[in-house]
Amino acid sequence: LDPEEFRRLGHAVVDWIADHRAGLEALPVRADVEPGWVRERLPAALPEDPAPLDALLSVVDDVVVPASTHWQHPRFFAYFPANASLHSLLGDMLSGGLGAQGMLWSTSPAATEVEQVLLDGLATALGLDPGFTFAGGGGGSIQDSASSAALVALLAALHRAEPGWRERGVTGTERVYVTAETHSSLAKAARVAGLGARALRTVEPVPGSRAMSPQALAAAVAEDVAAGLVPVLVCPTVGTTGTGAVDPVRAIAEVARPHGVWVHVDAAWAGVAALAPEFRHLLDGVELVDSFCTDAHKWMLTAFDASLLWVREADALPAALSITPEYLRNAASESGAVVDYRDWQVPLGRRFRAFKLWTVLHGVGLSGLRAHIRGHVALAAGLAERVRADPAFELAAEPSLALVCLRVVTGAGPDADDDASRELLERVNASGEAFLTHTVVGGRYVIRVAIGAVTTGPEHVDQLWEQLRAEAERVRQRYAA
Ligand code: PLP
Repeated sequence: LDPEEFRRLGHAVVDWIADHRAGLEALPVRADVEPGWVRERLPAALPEDPAPLDALLSVVDDVVVPASTHWQHPRFFAYFPANASLHSLLGDMLSGGLGAQGMLWSTSPAATEVEQVLLDGLATALGLDPGFTFAGGGGGSIQDSASSAALVALLAALHRAEPGWRERGVTGTERVYVTAETHSSLAKAARVAGLGARALRTVEPVPGSRAMSPQALAAAVAEDVAAGLVPVLVCPTVGTTGTGAVDPVRAIAEVARPHGVWVHVDAAWAGVAALAPEFRHLLDGVELVDSFCTDAHKWMLTAFDASLLWVREADALPAALSITPEYLRNAASESGAVVDYRDWQVPLGRRFRAFKLWTVLHGVGLSGLRAHIRGHVALAAGLAERVRADPAFELAAEPSLALVCLRVVTGAGPDADDDASRELLERVNASGEAFLTHTVVGGRYVIRVAIGAVTTGPEHVDQLWEQLRAEAERVRQRYAA
């Protein structure tokens, strides 16, 4: 493809994306296809000869779009959002256009230093302690996911807790502290690190809440130390996946630090809210922890994948992860004056992910990001008010930022309420008008409404509420009878 032909085809692709986004609201949110639907419609044989781009775009229209769940739809309220803003797509294009591979500073100084500047700036914008910036002795990196961030934090924690770990591997005595609400990525990190499920210790919540109890953590650590076990890492969550619960980071860090336990804060979804000072209290105590992660690819207008991980000690990840074969040796690395991000992650190679973060920050500014977050939090508060005021519903948990958890009230007891809520969710999702997901808390069914898609506005939450009310009326009649 020569650059002139690329220009022509590239315009066609940009036009396709612009048309797709402009028409998104008219599409069903969730893909409604049976398994195998897509494979049946694609030729089994790969193209032997070149074909025009138009032919591919028609397959995208006819097969890919109907079989896609539209995460960018304004009535996507499922899971947590995955903001692929158009600003970030521009950055992705520039990144691909440069095609740099930034494993070492020397393989693309710009890819490394733009990332360093942006992560230092974002640390300040989030109100993080200056100790998390490169200037302050720590530093930030862009990982592919919060799951990878948890894994590399755990590896750094193992290295700190057990000096022989890099040579010998794990001993089977290590302990990692979580709660019942901690994201499953921590269990996966423990498995990948060779610790297995038995290393995970689930700490009880503060009675009557879903937040980790610092007292229970202190008791668990003391018991493990007395038994000759090695407390390695504790993971407080700011904004759990199920209900948005917030663990008391400060009190947890105060328990963990005297034992040298690494504290990794998982704020994958909620952390970006700290860009707005009124939500910064959620990060109280983060200045005491070892690592902090929040996903720009959830609620910060940045297309997958871009998970932001800060560590307090710039050397912590390289000390655990660095392995240097001869072919990677170079004068810049040996000078000690540069950051080689390959040592901050599991893979060797890395894309210029900072570009899409840059086009977002440049395009909307910190003020635009704050408005994005504040708008959704206000919409969630409004929805929660309506839920409170309507006897057909109840809040299943206190709203957390832009997450509202609710269920149907039938008057016929908890089992009927749970069944009615399940049916209501299935009916809404089958309609294609909106997409919601659920969780189970304390054995009870919970409908989650996660507000946060790039273009979700008041009218979309109004439409959802009208639909919830209409469907609730139907299902309540059946279950109350
Ligand atoms: N942690 C929390 C609290 C989450 O909610 C999620 C995903 O929703 C994750 C971690 C995993 O995120 P990622 O897909 O970036 O690994």
